[in-house]
Amino acid sequence: MRSPSPRQPCKPTSLGGRCEIGSIAFDGRERISARHYHRGVLHNGSTVTVRVPAKINIGLRVGPRRLDGYHGLSTVYHAVSLYDTVSVKAADAMRLTLTGPESTGLAADDTNLAWQAARLLAEHLAVPKPGAISKPGAISKPGFDLHIDKQIPVAAGLAGGSADAAGALLACHELWGLDLDAIELSGLAAQLGSDVPFAVHGGTMLGSGRGETVRPIAVGGSWTWVLALAAGSLSTPAVYAELDRQRASAQTASATGSPSAEPAAESDAPAPESDATVLAALARGDTDGLSAAAGAMNDLQAAAVALAPYLEDTLRAGREAGARLAMVSGSGPTCVFLAEAGTAEQIADRLRALPRCRAALVVTGNAPVLPAWPAEPGPS
Ligand code: ATP
Repeated sequence: MRSPSPRQPCKPTSLGGRCEIGSIAFDGRERISARHYHRGVLHNGSTVTVRVPAKINIGLRVGPRRLDGYHGLSTVYHAVSLYDTVSVKAADAMRLTLTGPESTGLAADDTNLAWQAARLLAEHLAVPKPGAISKPGAISKPGFDLHIDKQIPVAAGLAGGSADAAGALLACHELWGLDLDAIELSGLAAQLGSDVPFAVHGGTMLGSGRGETVRPIAVGGSWTWVLALAAGSLSTPAVYAELDRQRASAQTASATGSPSAEPAAESDAPAPESDATVLAALARGDTDGLSAAAGAMNDLQAAAVALAPYLEDTLRAGREAGARLAMVSGSGPTCVFLAEAGTAEQIADRLRALPRCRAALVVTGNAPVLPAWPAEPGPS
C-alpha cells in the first residue's frame, strides 16, 4: 500500500526543454510537488478546484494504423481559453455530478473519463511499490466527490473528455496530498487517453507517438481563434476509420485503376515527422507564417468532411469572413479559424448565421490550466 506522503517544499525545477512526457524520456529525475508541477490547482480547505482548457490541433499528421491499432501521429497541441471546471472533495464513496451547458447527455458514472481518472489514481495509490512497507493508518483507495462544470462540448475534437480526466487527476493528486513525479502522473494520464498527458499541462506542446508523448515547444506570440461549434458530433474512431478507408481506396485506385472499400493494412511504419515550418512560425509568433504553413495540415480533415459534409460550408464561410486560417480541429466537427486583431467577432457573427453552426466562440491560444478563482495575493 502506498500512502499519501506529506508534501515537500517546492523545488525550483523546470519542465522546459529536456522532458518528454508520456513516453518516459524525462531527463530530470527530481520529484516535483503537485503545487509546483501544476500551479493551476487551487486547494481551498476541503475542496480542490482546477480549470482545464480545451485544445485545438495546429497541424495533425497521421501515419498508417499501427499493429497495436493506434495511428502514429505528429501534432501541435494548442490549449484555448474555453474551460471546464473540475472540483473535488474528500468522500468515502465515489461520486460525480455534472452541471453546465455541455453536460447534457453525459453520464455521471464510471464511464465518465473524470471518474476513471480519479479511480485510476486511487488504485495506483493502493498498488504497493517493490520494497514499500505499509504505514499504519494509511489511506487505501480514497473516495472522491467530483464535480464538473462543463463548457467544452463533447465529441467535438476539442478533447473535453481528456481535459476532465486531466482535471480530475490534478485535483485528486492535490486533495490526497500526493507527490507523484512527472513521469508517474503522465504515465497514468496516457492510460486514460492519448490527449490526457497534454491536458495536464495546457499551453502548447508537440505531440507524437499516438499523441501521448508530449514535449514543450517555444511559442513567441499569442493568437485569437474563433471556434465554430457544430450542431452534431463526430466519433474519433469513426473519423480514423474513414481516413483508413480513403487511403486504402486511393492506394488501390493508383495500383489497379479502380478504388476499393477495404480499410488500409496495418503497418509498423514510423510516425510522421512534425512540420518544421509550423514550429518555426509558432516560435517567431509569426501569423503569416502560421497561416501559410498550417493551412492544409490536418490529415483527418478530409475524413471529417466526408462524414459531415456541411463542414465544407463552415470552413468556406470563415475564410470568406476574413479568417487567416480555417481548419477542422482534430477529428472535428469543431472548425477553428485564426483571426487577425479586430476581425474575430465579425468572423464569429458570420459563422453563427450558418444552420449547422450552433455557436461561435472567440478564444485565445496557449491557455494554461488555471485555478478557479484568483490565488491569494502574495506578500507586498
Ligand atoms: P478526442 O479527445 O478523441 O479528440 P473529442 O474531443 O472529440 O475526443 P471528447 O469530448 O473528449 O471528444 O469525448 C470523447 C468521448 O468520451 C465521448 O464519446 C464521450 O461520451 C466520452 N466521455 C467520457 N467522459 C467524458 C467527459 N467528461 N467529457 C466529454 N466526453 C466524455
